Amino acid sequence: MERDTILQHLGEKKSGPSPVVPPIVQTSLFVYPELDSFWNTMFEPDTEKDRYIYSRVGNPTLDVAARKIAALEHTESALLFASGMAAITSSMLSVLSHGGHVVYVDTIYGPSKHFIEEWLPRFGISCTAVDGRSSDEVIGACKPETQLIYLESPSSIVFRLQDLRTICDAAKEKGIATLIDNSYASPLFQQPADLGVDLVIHSATKYISGHSDVVAGVVAGTRERMTRIMEQEGQWLGALLPPFPAWLLLRGLRTLPIRMKAAQETGNIVGAFLATRPEVETVLHVGSPDFDQKALRDQQMSGTSSLLSFRPKVQDLDRIKAFIHDLKIFQIGVSWGGFESLALPIPLVPGDSPSDWVIRIYCGLEDVKDICGDLAQSLERHLA
Ligand SMILES: *Cc1c(COP(=O)(O)O)cnc(C)c1O
Repeated sequence: MERDTILQHLGEKKSGPSPVVPPIVQTSLFVYPELDSFWNTMFEPDTEKDRYIYSRVGNPTLDVAARKIAALEHTESALLFASGMAAITSSMLSVLSHGGHVVYVDTIYGPSKHFIEEWLPRFGISCTAVDGRSSDEVIGACKPETQLIYLESPSSIVFRLQDLRTICDAAKEKGIATLIDNSYASPLFQQPADLGVDLVIHSATKYISGHSDVVAGVVAGTRERMTRIMEQEGQWLGALLPPFPAWLLLRGLRTLPIRMKAAQETGNIVGAFLATRPEVETVLHVGSPDFDQKALRDQQMSGTSSLLSFRPKVQDLDRIKAFIHDLKIFQIGVSWGGFESLALPIPLVPGDSPSDWVIRIYCGLEDVKDICGDLAQSLERHLA
């Protein structure tokens, strides 16, 4: 099945007259007609068969969406979590233990970074930050006790890429697990498992759900790794996605191809437009023809999205604030991947009085003429 057909049909069982939309199986548990079949499912599971016992560990509504995402990611299996962070922390914990060490890219999503830097050390796990653009630096930072290399490519504020194949080849040789946050690309524009990444995670809150009405996460990987995550972190930390948001996520997946096509087109138009503006010093946009890692981009990605940043020449915070406040279409907010455009100033070097600001913009599904017009009017008024 081709990608767009997978999203409409894979994993949906129908026999006789059936609802075309899979039902929300809103139940906490599954009951059995007799004890033997219950015991068999519980204690001697057939991994090829559905195993529904209790919704903390599995529910059919989740599996419909998870099968589609696994197919798109070219992995054997996937699991839906209650948030991107639940997916990230559960999958990290599945490969880490006391005395271990994590090598992570310095520009990853803030909460993931905090978890690695501030939370894992409480359990005897140390870490080293690296500039992921240098594979040598990533590989060189690995120690005998390294258990995980944590990647985010492209990263979601400054949009830096890591060479996934080179890093994963080296990691495999050393027996180190690799994990990537693939949220920027969505499962459509990058399949990191093909390049050797062990665990692929998404904040499904973003492009996958796509309507700003769901918080969810996904992990995809081999059946072996995913069975372990389901049986241990999934079950013990208890952060799987409930059925109703899983149903909304599935609804979002139906339109992922057309939304990503729009995202790529709009992102490219807005990126090119910003590059022509006298108020803009640099545009950080993965889809740009001048993108500094474009050879690597073309090698490992099949598309780019509508999340980008730019550095205005004016670095005065009051004027940057005025620029943001005078945007009419862009709203102020942290997330992205939904229908609505968003803008946020972000300090490149966090601190008490940061002096290096980029403005991260997420371009939504509005008309691109309105998006560019909105940026132009506020740039002229406040950052010229
Ligand atoms: C939002 C986000 C996350 C966290 O996902 P939640 O669903 O909010 O928990 C992780 N990584 C990236 C790149 C994100 O943008």
